[in-house]
Amino acid sequence: MKKVVLIVVDGLTPAVYEDAIESGRASALAYLHELGTYRRALSTFPSLTPVCASSIATGAHPDVHRIPHLVWYDRGERRVIEYGSSFSAMLAAGMSRSIRNTIFHMNGRHLGAEAVTLFEALDDAGLETAAVNFTCYRGRTEHRTTLPGVTRTIRGPKRFFFYNLFESDVTGAPLSVRRRSAGSVDDYAAAVGRWLVTRDGFDFFLYYLSDYDYASHTLGPEGAAEKLADADAQIATVMDAAGGWDEFVERYAVIVCSDHGQTPVGDAVALEPAFAGLDRDIVVTASNRAGQVYRLPSCPEPARALAERLDGLRGVDVAVFLEEGAAVVRRRRDELRFSPEGDGWRVEGGAELDHPDALARIWAALHNPNAGDVLVTAEDGIEFTDLGGRHHAGGGSHGSLSLGDSEVPMLAVGIDLVPAGITEIAPAVLQHFGVEPPPYARRLVGVG
Ligand SMILES: [Zn+2]
Repeated sequence: MKKVVLIVVDGLTPAVYEDAIESGRASALAYLHELGTYRRALSTFPSLTPVCASSIATGAHPDVHRIPHLVWYDRGERRVIEYGSSFSAMLAAGMSRSIRNTIFHMNGRHLGAEAVTLFEALDDAGLETAAVNFTCYRGRTEHRTTLPGVTRTIRGPKRFFFYNLFESDVTGAPLSVRRRSAGSVDDYAAAVGRWLVTRDGFDFFLYYLSDYDYASHTLGPEGAAEKLADADAQIATVMDAAGGWDEFVERYAVIVCSDHGQTPVGDAVALEPAFAGLDRDIVVTASNRAGQVYRLPSCPEPARALAERLDGLRGVDVAVFLEEGAAVVRRRRDELRFSPEGDGWRVEGGAELDHPDALARIWAALHNPNAGDVLVTAEDGIEFTDLGGRHHAGGGSHGSLSLGDSEVPMLAVGIDLVPAGITEIAPAVLQHFGVEPPPYARRLVGVG
């Protein structure tokens, strides 16, 4: 059985991937594509990296893995948790105590206890795991950070590299987070990947390239297409390290995917003004194209009333909440109510909902105990301003239920089961290794 390399290019859309293959602008990807099986697959909701990375690592939607958003309100701790637009951006901004805690806590505390990561499941099966820069890293091996004076440890994959805050092995890989526009974060990942592949030092390696998403936020999903050449070069670097591309696919099965899509945004809208008079009774956490409203114990209004306040707000696509055991979707004053029935859904109401796999993804997002009482998504072309009033208007964004934010490219080479969604990656990899997926994950059935 071949070892596995899982390559995640953050924010890569199927359209850009397919165009790059066709136009020959991405030679390493084109080589893999030729040998593999390709499909468009679905992300989870909200389609934001911490949520999606947790779905990739655990094979679960947020109802099980419990990571609700980039930014959320911890009801127990009574504080806002901000994972930041990217870890490297946070590192560049300086490592405050809260940032440090967040890096430790997403995996150490927030990630659901019932969720099983690929690293945990494969480690338990006696296989050697490795990851570079991947946000959802919980594993079985204890690692100490390279930060001076910090004694706290984390549990990660056996070989673990995280923006050189954690380095299980001395690889000589350089990192300069201050030059992100020059692609230095992925250069670091590529240097680590080259080191790992040169030694064949793993059974499963999660190779995460984050710079593409960063470029796409700035340039927009189409404008960023040129930047895929950088990610392709970094993929070529690890393939070269096997002694050649044929040798690489001889030794490794490969999955290439992204965590979510991106859509162009031209304008930003603040959700907060819709909740005038409730400043002390609710917490709004919004970022990119998804927002959440948390009711505090003092809040005089039920979730329904909070959702109705958004009815007339420009830029709001849907608001969803739970009511008497059902999920309610409000879209421009129309409503749709649904709850599970048999293998499907019992649906009432007339709101039109054309988003892919909307009911299952909304249901899972609302049943995350860390999620807000009302979840809100933005119309196409619109973004919600975050806590700092920042947005990506003029560039690209993601987070909503819409097709563009939700669709990802999915290429499988040497893996029988081609995942139809990012939650199917973990079971596909586990089944490849003959390891039983966790009970909540779908057991995939081959089509052949
Ligand atoms: Zn992003």
